[in-house]
Amino acid sequence: MHNHLDASAVARAFAPDEPVILNRPHAAARAARFFAEKFPGRSLYAVKANPSPELLRVLWDAGITHFDVASIAEVRLVRATLPEATLCFMHPVKTAGAIREAYFDHGVRTFSLDTHEELEKIVTATADASGEPAADLRLCVRLRVSSEYSELSLASKFGIDLADAAPLLQATRQVADWLGVCFHVGSQAMTPFAYVQALVRVRAAIVDASVTVDIVDVGGGFPSVYPGMEPPPLEDYFDVIHRAAESLPVSYSSELWCEPGRALSAEYNSLIVKVEKRRGNELYINDGAYGALYDAAHVGWRFPVKCLADARSDEEEGFSFYGPTCDDADFMEGPFMLPADIKAGDYIEVGMLGAYGAAMRTAFNGFGQGGAVDVTDEPMESLYTGERADPRVSDNVVSLR
Ligand SMILES: *Cc1c(COP(=O)(O)O)cnc(C)c1O
Repeated sequence: MHNHLDASAVARAFAPDEPVILNRPHAAARAARFFAEKFPGRSLYAVKANPSPELLRVLWDAGITHFDVASIAEVRLVRATLPEATLCFMHPVKTAGAIREAYFDHGVRTFSLDTHEELEKIVTATADASGEPAADLRLCVRLRVSSEYSELSLASKFGIDLADAAPLLQATRQVADWLGVCFHVGSQAMTPFAYVQALVRVRAAIVDASVTVDIVDVGGGFPSVYPGMEPPPLEDYFDVIHRAAESLPVSYSSELWCEPGRALSAEYNSLIVKVEKRRGNELYINDGAYGALYDAAHVGWRFPVKCLADARSDEEEGFSFYGPTCDDADFMEGPFMLPADIKAGDYIEVGMLGAYGAAMRTAFNGFGQGGAVDVTDEPMESLYTGERADPRVSDNVVSLR
């Protein structure tokens, strides 16, 4: 694929009528090396954040060997893309068929669960033809933890309550070669304290159940940088997780895992959209709620933007966006700060769309096509270049949204 310098060069070269995804493999590789080298344990990439095969290969080449997959389609995709990768099926609700195929056809040994029913299902689906249970299962019990420090909650759907965890941990210990405890503090966790609090709960669960634990998996939730959301440095997260995990009553040979999705993929993509029409401070653009800007529409996420037209005013104003479909819900409130004189025909680059952005495109209403090209410039924001001002200086560590 031909490499381009940046979004402006792509807009000039193609004058694209469809939205164009920009890939920054160097930024994803840098994030992967950071986790591989600095996280005090093993880092699994959570594939759902962005399942692009090109990205999967970039992460693998940069040292990520384990992948958190949540559906049988993700299992097949990662296995086809990376035959050597270790896959961990971390969705607590799976079909028996998916478990069987993952175990027997794709070599998956690690599964998560949060009920006795799911444990039973896993044991039955992985037994051999004579009914002999598998002896090599690595089973992670998902604990419910608070999402109060995160921008997107994952607290209500999955995870067993601490009060009910002991019998499930004990039953799982009986059939597992390795027993793990996992949780998810919610996506875009704005303070490392979220993990400390969750690990306090993990400690209580282990003590209650008196079981030997081989894996502690702190899940995803590691933040990226967006307008109004400046998290503390990731090293702070790693430090407190390391300290809290060191003091857990787990086996000497136990492993510490994490499952970053957003933090490994956010910087990988940005998007070029075209302004089709301006109405006051509303811009009608050619991507939206059913495309890569799903989170901008549905949870009001403010992605950074940049006008790619030359000779526009230095004065900026806040704009809202309408997407291309005929649906009123295809609306992104913003405000997105852009030149006051931006107009139809101009191109805009929307940054930090590698996580839950590029992956969200649908074909609803005939939109959602558009290509992808590689660019070599830096993402609009980065956690990994060492250039970010340390937000601790201003104590500005929580969301301003
Ligand atoms: C979504 C998800 C992740 C990734 O979360 P991020 O907030 O993107 O880091 C990790 N683990 C599980 C089980 C998930 O569902």
